Amino acid sequence: MNKTHRLCLVLGDQLSFDLASLKGLDAEQDTVLLVEVMEEASHVPHHPQKIALIFSAMRHFAEALKQRGIRVQYVTLDDPQNSGSVPGELRRWQSLLHAEELHLTECGDWRLEQSLKECGLAIQWHTDSRFLCSRADFSSWAEGKKQLRMEFFYREMRRKSGLLLNGDGSPVGGTWNFDAENRKTLPKGLRAPSPMRFSADAVTQDVLALVAKNFSSHYGALDAFDYPVTHADAQALWDYFLDWGLAAFGDYQDAMASDEPFLFHARISAALNIGLLDLRRLCNDVEAAYWAHRIPLNAAEGFIRQLIGWREYVRGVYWLKMPEYASGNLFGNSRPLPEFYWTGDTQMNCMSQAIGQSLKYAYAHHIQRLMVTGNFALLAGIAPSQICDWYLAIYMDAFDWVELPNTLGMVMHADGGYLGSKPYCASGQYIKRMSDYCRDCAYKVSESTTYDACPFNSLYWHFLMRHGDLLRGNQRMSMIYKNLDRMPESRQQALWQRGQFLLAKLDEGESF
Ligand code: FAD
Ligand code: SF4
Repeated sequence: MNKTHRLCLVLGDQLSFDLASLKGLDAEQDTVLLVEVMEEASHVPHHPQKIALIFSAMRHFAEALKQRGIRVQYVTLDDPQNSGSVPGELRRWQSLLHAEELHLTECGDWRLEQSLKECGLAIQWHTDSRFLCSRADFSSWAEGKKQLRMEFFYREMRRKSGLLLNGDGSPVGGTWNFDAENRKTLPKGLRAPSPMRFSADAVTQDVLALVAKNFSSHYGALDAFDYPVTHADAQALWDYFLDWGLAAFGDYQDAMASDEPFLFHARISAALNIGLLDLRRLCNDVEAAYWAHRIPLNAAEGFIRQLIGWREYVRGVYWLKMPEYASGNLFGNSRPLPEFYWTGDTQMNCMSQAIGQSLKYAYAHHIQRLMVTGNFALLAGIAPSQICDWYLAIYMDAFDWVELPNTLGMVMHADGGYLGSKPYCASGQYIKRMSDYCRDCAYKVSESTTYDACPFNSLYWHFLMRHGDLLRGNQRMSMIYKNLDRMPESRQQALWQRGQFLLAKLDEGESF
């Protein structure tokens, strides 16, 4: 009996052997297609290391599939026949191979999925089973709810996965969330483990040369590339974190320190997002480490919360709300992104550290993204689309489904509070408490209105004053507004003026 010939397209963030669309593949009959295309590599100016990671991991994955006896067609970026887009390549290969069926797992980007759905090809779509919560399950959970809250979704995911539960279904430790125990500052003298680095093999070296040649106009250093590009290396990175980072992750999750880009963070987000690591295995490993008394509960719960809480939650919100979600702009911001986001050239030490390491490693940890670069963009009223494009371009782990809700929703509150109940706005005092950045800064964090005052301070109050009509009614902001209202009029005016002065400088294209 003649079987139909399937063509399975695997995208650069779908490099998992058990990908839904690869199930039931007939090694003799079917073909897997992987394509490096210019459109995906350049629709925002992706960090060169991110492009290198994806292309190199794709090439290694293609080779591993071949070794498993699977027929693979691989199109490199510089192939003269390359049409430059994913739909273009799918169309070309369907015709070349006379494929009767096209199979694809759901995309991580609404834009790409839409272009494939509209390209005139009959694609058989598969649910992305690498997530705990499918798109359909998330919309059932969200149905009828006026406001969504991560905490309640997270509890559902704990129940669904059975992670860190007692026999009677209650949470281990008596509470679902140990967030309050994740905010310690770094004690003097405590050093983070040195990051695990991976040297470039011949495949990666070819890719690095290709990226250097084709993407020299993109911001970010290529020479520091040291990320894992195979499943085995990603596993080694994960094992290293389990042994050396995870125990302290719980306590110091929110801490920041000069010249310590990674601290006790795992650095696994990029490997996980492109399919080199498996979510369920990571969670099981963390739980096992807790039961084996290798890590405290605040570390185990804190890490699992990020993975099955925040990560799944932002994905759910993305697919529920796209495409309208991307145009949210609650505060009506229109200020362009300051040039120093692309260069790190600012005297604000916290910004210079966070941006500098992002350009160097395509990495910053969560609190740097949320409370430094994100907080500044929120306070300064940057246009949401511009700051979202920056995060999407600059981080190794950035894919639209995860970057957009984190930036537009969590950081910019531009979705009107759908994702988070209040804006994460803070003055320089927060940064001072959680880091040593202020010690070596040109600005004084203790000042708000003087010529050398920390810009975050006046911008914080300016933000609250200019958006009082939208935020005063928010219960969770009431204490903050009480503090503002208690201030003498003259103080409020001075803060407003200093804020106006700084924003005018930004409008003139000046750094500070
Ligand atoms: P760790 O701090 O060690 O955390 C463990 C894991 O939890 C991460 O690897 C990640 O998979 C997951 N995680 C933690 N927080 C989140 C979150 N809020 N959303 C989704 N997953 C989470 N993460 C991305 O993977 N891609 C992005 O494009 C991205 N953009 C972000 C943009 C902003 C403005 C903010 C505030 C956060 C963003 N995050 C994003 C979440 C988080 O910053 C990164 O997942 C984390 O810094 C990755 O480093 P790590 O692997 O060392 O994580
Ligand atoms: Fe950042 Fe202000 Fe501290 Fe400088 S003083 S590092 S600008 S928070």
